[in-house]
Amino acid sequence: MVNKRTAARLDAYERRYRELARQLAGIGYIAAGSIALWPGRCGKANCACHADPPRLHGPYWHVTQTIDGRTVNRRLTPEQAGLYSEWISNDRRAKEILARMRGVAAKAAELLLNEALVQQDRTGPKARFQAHDRQVHTFASAGNSAPSTPPRRPTSA
Ligand SMILES: [Zn+2]
Repeated sequence: MVNKRTAARLDAYERRYRELARQLAGIGYIAAGSIALWPGRCGKANCACHADPPRLHGPYWHVTQTIDGRTVNRRLTPEQAGLYSEWISNDRRAKEILARMRGVAAKAAELLLNEALVQQDRTGPKARFQAHDRQVHTFASAGNSAPSTPPRRPTSA
């Protein structure tokens, strides 16, 4: 079984992980891209904004996104820009939380992998060989080419 100290650490990681997952679940809509204020041209061909040199309108809010590998700009009203700004900051927050979840999971994984190794060593060499044998048979029955000799585990330490 897992020793008390390892169990306590795993419990702490689990609680932290669940807490982060709760935070992630509470996040509103997310959106990729960025918003900015740019000057722009209108649709009237004879307007000063199309003259040389141009006198541009605005500035207006625009959202820039990459859709199917292409950069797409879209003009937004100030209200729409407000919504987008919120979705973009939600997106940033979601990424931060996910990165922290990965960090906690990696620490827990290290403990669990180590524990699995300890458990395997306790089962002894005979059980280990049988487990290996089963694995080879699984490969063979799946139609894959089974290795003629099972790869040997390092015997040191
Ligand atoms: Zn114009």
